[in-house]
Amino acid sequence: MRRIVIYVLVILATFEFSFAQDSDKDFKWPEKKKAAVCLTFDDGQDSHLDNAIPILDSFNMKATFYCPGNKESLHNRTPEWKKIVENGHELGNHSLFHPCDGRLFDWVLPEYDLNNYSRAQIRMELYTSNTLLKAVDGKTNRTYGYPCSNFKVHGDSTYVDIVKQQFSAARSDGPIPNTMQNIDINFMPSWCVDSHTGKELIAYVEEARKNGTIATFMFHSVGGGYLNVSNEALQELLIYLKENEEDYWVDTFYNVTNYIANQSGNIE
Ligand SMILES: [Zn+2]
Repeated sequence: MRRIVIYVLVILATFEFSFAQDSDKDFKWPEKKKAAVCLTFDDGQDSHLDNAIPILDSFNMKATFYCPGNKESLHNRTPEWKKIVENGHELGNHSLFHPCDGRLFDWVLPEYDLNNYSRAQIRMELYTSNTLLKAVDGKTNRTYGYPCSNFKVHGDSTYVDIVKQQFSAARSDGPIPNTMQNIDINFMPSWCVDSHTGKELIAYVEEARKNGTIATFMFHSVGGGYLNVSNEALQELLIYLKENEEDYWVDTFYNVTNYIANQSGNIE
């Protein structure tokens, strides 16, 4: 009897495995590409306008910039932030005040500690931040980058559902997906780069190509600063992506996640 149960379980597991493989084959990146790559840059820094944008534009590659509403760079250089969107980059929502979990980061001020936030408060903050960004770039749809990848407010209550109502997709953190099946575009994994070399950045996109999935970079400072990527490392990555452009689709987080949403719709 016990042996029969085991046989049945093995058959079921095999069936499920082959079903998963088949479903995954149905997911196709555009133009027979093998993986998608999203380059995202956080915190609305001058180094994005001064270093990242010229490098990206020299390769004609489009990226997403998650800019909190309270950043000095957005205040001081608004026309330049507007212009990057006209050139095909995305200005993503990163909240107004960059609230994070104060239990995890000692630099978080009490008034911007997610543990002191209500759901109504984060909802209104994201809404207001969307209005501000719309005033800059005229867009009514954009994606969200969870500040510090934290997604819970007071009482450990998730605010992912609120994000889902206001954005087409959202970026969190986590490892590269093994499969495109059951991908949640409202909670996409990404890798927080911290002084890594060009070779390490390239190894990351190669992993996504091996899996046929997606590599999303979470960059912060470019060419000097915290959680830095050097101009040289970024350039090395982009040279590699250009040389292998038949395999990699590099685009904004908005464009790539919209494509995923449509493809997933086709599978169902
Ligand atoms: Zn941030």
